[in-house]
Amino acid sequence: PRIFGLSNSHLSTAAEPSWKHRNPPRVPNLIGGSFVDSQSAEFIDVINPATQEVVSQLPLTTDEEFKAAVSAAKQAFPSWRNTPITTRQRIMLKLQELIRRDMDKLAINITTEQGKTLKDAQGDVFRGLEVVEHVCGMASLQMGEYVPNVSNGIDTYSLREPLGVCAGICPFNFPAMIPLWMFPVAVTCGNTFILKPSEKDPGASIILAELAKEAGLPDGVLNIVHGTNDIVNAICDDDDVRAISFVGSNTAGMHIYARAAAKGKRVQSNMGAKNHGVVMPDANMDATLNSLVAAGFGAAGQRCMALSTVVFVGSSKPWENKLVECAKVLKVSAGTDPGADLGPVISKQAKERICRFIQSGVESGAKLLLDGRNIVVPGYEQGNFIGPTILSNVTPDMECYKEEIFGPVLLCLQADSLEDAINIVNKNKYGNGASIFTTSGVVARKFQTEIEAGQVGINVPIPVPLPFFSFTGSKASFAGDLNFYGKAGVQFYTQIKTVTQQWKDVPGGSGVSLAMPTSQ
Ligand code: NAD
Repeated sequence: PRIFGLSNSHLSTAAEPSWKHRNPPRVPNLIGGSFVDSQSAEFIDVINPATQEVVSQLPLTTDEEFKAAVSAAKQAFPSWRNTPITTRQRIMLKLQELIRRDMDKLAINITTEQGKTLKDAQGDVFRGLEVVEHVCGMASLQMGEYVPNVSNGIDTYSLREPLGVCAGICPFNFPAMIPLWMFPVAVTCGNTFILKPSEKDPGASIILAELAKEAGLPDGVLNIVHGTNDIVNAICDDDDVRAISFVGSNTAGMHIYARAAAKGKRVQSNMGAKNHGVVMPDANMDATLNSLVAAGFGAAGQRCMALSTVVFVGSSKPWENKLVECAKVLKVSAGTDPGADLGPVISKQAKERICRFIQSGVESGAKLLLDGRNIVVPGYEQGNFIGPTILSNVTPDMECYKEEIFGPVLLCLQADSLEDAINIVNKNKYGNGASIFTTSGVVARKFQTEIEAGQVGINVPIPVPLPFFSFTGSKASFAGDLNFYGKAGVQFYTQIKTVTQQWKDVPGGSGVSLAMPTSQ
């Protein structure tokens, strides 16, 4: 998107239309409970990737506005942390109801700004909604521990207390799910929050914040700011921000991890991926092909758990032929087209990058079994479309294999044995997910034990755990030690306090001992 200045935008007057009534609308900041026009002179166009239409304009939130957001969050913290947990839970109970009510509105916004199909956009919202449902039971999740009589008349117990102001930095590919991985967990634990949506598709975050307000979330508990590198750096550097949740690329994630850690913050950083599907000769052919096509090309490959790489154990030829047959009938169109299987990729730059990887694969000896680069979608000629693309004879030294492509491109490798296949997967730097397709329990068990990936699928192509577990990427796909949502998510957004209490009649005259106290 182009960044440009609006010369007089800082001279906002009462007569000027608010963010909602401008054409195109401006994306507001949310500060202390009010959705407000930014005073920034710099904006980025939010672009519909199927049409290139400007959907809205996103301000680069000014430093002053950022400080006001942090200050609002800081001010809201003392009373929010002391709000009964049951009240906090009930707000989430209401929020999940409102998200269901406005599911279609959220989905159409996601399709318009991000490009994915409407059905997939509903899935995006639904997987986030499940986190909201889960945090409705926060009282049990946040419970402490108690050991009575650790010494005579002395008990120790632990409390999980909120941290204070926390922040979340989001990627473009799940505009609803990822903000919902973050703020519901953080605020239900008693923290206040600064959310920085992706500059490419901020709309769903704004709708979710409106719903949170309607559900009764007090002013200042959730705030939203916008921008790119500068605002992210401001979040990393701010002394009042205690913890940062990040989801996105490795370049940004490792930068944020280092910069925020230097300021003593907690960071959980979910990053890039190269997820492998290992197909054994005994796998159920139809079910496996369906899984590979859905997980390889769904959302145009723009999922961090997309199955972008297949390793066929034994002869790959019959599999590849059938894979091409299944993939070439997929319908590529705007996400609003009810028949569409996959929509456009996020930007022209993303399309160029993906095409470069395909070309580099071909040049380094891979065989292009299906080429989606030159697709034209009638009625959407300007869209950033790439059709399903399949490269075979791929080897681990190729650029297209080493880097995350993040597009509708499936790479096919071949291995002589299960051991070979496991070796290939384990040598890859990423460790988000890996799946095996087999009818043998023995094979599946060996795979589960030896594979170095955080999320393992057995005949399941996208093994993203529901919120009672956590999202457990590993190796270069994750930095930090407390994962998103589930028990680890609650631990991330809380700190432990232990209390040791003594309630007993202490006889007088027993004297003073300066020795280290030990259990009696
Ligand atoms: P991105 O890293 O470009 O952007 C993510 C966020 O970081 C945005 O809010 C952006 O404004 C900010 N940002 C980008 N570059 C920055 C920099 N140099 N300094 C500071 N901030 C910066 O990622 P994206 O393209 O929006 O998302 C795609 C990536 O996200 C893929 O790599 C994908 O695998 C990953 N992803 C991972 C998971 C996961 O759970 N592991 C989930 C979704 C997406």
